[in-house]
Amino acid sequence: MKNKSYKKTYSYSKLNSYKSCPQKFKIIYIDKIRNQNEGIEAFMGKRVHEVLEWLYLDPEINKKFISFDSIMAKYNELWNDKWHDSIFMAKCKFDKTFYNKKTLYDIGVDCLGNYYRNFNLNGIFNQNVYKIELGFQCTVGGNVFRGFIDRIDVDDKGFIDVIDYKTGKKSKTIYNAKNDFQLAIYYKAVMDLFPDFQKIRLNFYNLREKKKDKMVIQAEYDEKKLNKIIKNINDVVYDINHEEDFIAKESLLCEWCYYWDDCEVKASQNPAIRL
Ligand code: SF4
Repeated sequence: MKNKSYKKTYSYSKLNSYKSCPQKFKIIYIDKIRNQNEGIEAFMGKRVHEVLEWLYLDPEINKKFISFDSIMAKYNELWNDKWHDSIFMAKCKFDKTFYNKKTLYDIGVDCLGNYYRNFNLNGIFNQNVYKIELGFQCTVGGNVFRGFIDRIDVDDKGFIDVIDYKTGKKSKTIYNAKNDFQLAIYYKAVMDLFPDFQKIRLNFYNLREKKKDKMVIQAEYDEKKLNKIIKNINDVVYDINHEEDFIAKESLLCEWCYYWDDCEVKASQNPAIRL
């Protein structure tokens, strides 16, 4: 393989793409084929993330009353402004009665409603937000990783909460949080940013969950745990760097893959429905 540029830096998405299908990894990161197509679930997730980012961009946020109507107005604005012609619904999901564009729009509303209910106090959001959408570069097991962290909260005792919002159907568990590549990479990045930290807590916020105790899934790592996850990350990096064949791994996830035209094992286009 002549083009080794994909080996310079890594990201959680890169590793995840390789693990789910080496062929897809090759198409995106080696052949560098990109298209604008995206699934409606991803579109909705991005808009929900953007609303929560917008919410905490205001430096006066903890002094103002924020109505749910204003949250909804922002969601609607972003949903309409960013809608484009290449948004699809996976064929296996398409059911005009039960699962359609409106269903996904409504799931986004529910995610924001759940967040609003669980985190406002009389309309005030007083979380100790330090940064939102923080871009980082760090070294994990000798390899350079880049990425963005949804949110970092820091309290006056030096306790740091790393927060990753999730809008997917399957809620993350504590087991997931304790073994997650993404959170481990964030942990390393935050350790570099805050060398004097007291404690770093890693949080998934499952936004589809109504109750706070199910929404907030938290984990902490000790050195042994972190080293174990880093070893697993290194194993995937090793596999990527020694991969020659990039064999297609067909699965249900193919339904949400928009590279069928470039995939060696697909004879047709993705039958997903353009919305
Ligand atoms: S269609 Fe399936 S097998 Fe082909 S690249 Fe996409 S995920 Fe891999």
